[in-house]
Amino acid sequence: MRRLNLTGTMLAVLFLAVPMPRAQAQERKSIAAAATTTAVAPVVVVTPAERAAAERITAARLKEILYFIASDEMAGRDTPSPGLDKTAQFIADRLKQLKLKPAGDKDSYFQRIALSKTVVDREATRAQLGERVFKIGEDFIPAGRVGGEADAPLVYVGHGWVIKSKNINAYDGLDVRDRIVIVSGDGTTTPPGMSVAGLPGGDWESPLSYAQKHGAKALVTIPRNFERALRFGALRLARPYFTVPRLENAVADDDEDEAAEAPTQGMPTILATRAMLDALFAGERVDTARVLQASQGQGEQPKGFALSADKRLSLSVKLSTTETTSQNIVAVLEGKDSKLKKEFVALGAHYDHVGGNGGGCRPVGEDSICNGADDDGSGTTALLTMAEAFAKGQRPKRSILFVWHMGEEKGLWGSDYFTRYPTVPLKQVVAQLNMDMIGRSKKEGDTNPANKMLTGPEEIYVVGSTLMSTELQRMSEGVNSAYLNLKYNYHYDEPNDPERMYSRSDHYNYAKHGIPIIFYFDGVHEDYHKPTDTADKIDYEKMQKVTRTVFILASELADAPRRPVVDKQLPQDRMTR
Ligand SMILES: [Zn+2]
Repeated sequence: MRRLNLTGTMLAVLFLAVPMPRAQAQERKSIAAAATTTAVAPVVVVTPAERAAAERITAARLKEILYFIASDEMAGRDTPSPGLDKTAQFIADRLKQLKLKPAGDKDSYFQRIALSKTVVDREATRAQLGERVFKIGEDFIPAGRVGGEADAPLVYVGHGWVIKSKNINAYDGLDVRDRIVIVSGDGTTTPPGMSVAGLPGGDWESPLSYAQKHGAKALVTIPRNFERALRFGALRLARPYFTVPRLENAVADDDEDEAAEAPTQGMPTILATRAMLDALFAGERVDTARVLQASQGQGEQPKGFALSADKRLSLSVKLSTTETTSQNIVAVLEGKDSKLKKEFVALGAHYDHVGGNGGGCRPVGEDSICNGADDDGSGTTALLTMAEAFAKGQRPKRSILFVWHMGEEKGLWGSDYFTRYPTVPLKQVVAQLNMDMIGRSKKEGDTNPANKMLTGPEEIYVVGSTLMSTELQRMSEGVNSAYLNLKYNYHYDEPNDPERMYSRSDHYNYAKHGIPIIFYFDGVHEDYHKPTDTADKIDYEKMQKVTRTVFILASELADAPRRPVVDKQLPQDRMTR
């Protein structure tokens, strides 16, 4: 499960600011209400053969696999990393034993994904003001993802925002063209107490996009949490930064289609430390202390001004980029019906996690490997045992598509990639069932607030089933009441929920392509994204129940006379960009 990031929060606020039409809101409420009863569920008969197949999925087998996948040897399965590749090979080897059809690239189980790896070239990155040479990592830290050079006079633009509806414009009487812009804030996050609504570029403009559109040469930011940003920036300086170029280009193309203005590519950006700010603001009408205060939302925001014309900052940010790869793992169990086998029931999980210290993992004491047993070792393992059960049981009519996604924690990369460049025709995918964190349960008497939303041993959050296809929802309920009767919790079945669960895992990318989805999730808990998310904390009995239930639903979907009809469309949420 992906962490809710700051950009996400900001965009979520934007999204929430657009009121939902009333009828739609009411309809959603009544759907949610209907979902909590089983009255609409048709009678689903779970056949003895289906039961027998599901019973091949056992707590003991789940435990055996998960202890391996969540071992320290996999080093937290960061994307990309040797530990992730090792996990991929383990899964692929097992799929080969099971004789499932490879459905990645060129008869392989791997769909290769090119990544670009960028590091700051510390030697070639420099900043100088007159005679004063600043030191990288000490006086300044490159912050953006764009390299470049600038040699120009400076302008301070205050908070740097333009918000038309509030008559806010930081640039009254200021020209940023051919200048280096200094801004209080990080250039993209609104200052405390200020919010934006409407369209970027039209109704409002961030300091970064304003600077780019108006011909500025570079950006010097003074982040709100100054000390923390510097510490974090210094750490990041030592670390490579990864992107998926094919996805970045695809997103840029989408934006060009949708947005009124072309996307911005970023510009050379640095964080200035106190020492550098003191040099920049020496002898100016506003001193460093006031500028820093303003960045933190304290005191009055000084108006912007051009710094004295004899000051020129010479800046060079050099990045060096190389290529590497990672992979999704894709396999198919071919259906037995000559016609229906062309359709697929997709089952998914993400096999990556946040790695170790230096990745997205926050160390606890000495332990700095985030093992990701629940997140999403549990879904990864469940998917493998489902592949085993399908491979040994009766073949269903439709084909079953298994995808283990990479890079979920980085921004749903694997599922974005797979749905943009699918290895089977996406239109023939009738539904996608995603398991991300299905192994933890709340113990009786647990009063830890961090476990407040964790589900019990017989309970699981079922997200998205009511939002796109009434038929899928009915089948989901029908299977549950005919089989293990778990407590289905629909709390997160709401795209506007502040926790944004609906858009925080891979199923979301399938939904964006019109495929009805269900997301199974146990709830955030005390060990979420920590080194303490380990295999010994898993409730294997619960995991067995959830996995068997998803297996039966997949079997029912694969054998159903027709695919579930999509009768509702989701509002677009651009958070995952
Ligand atoms: Zn996660």
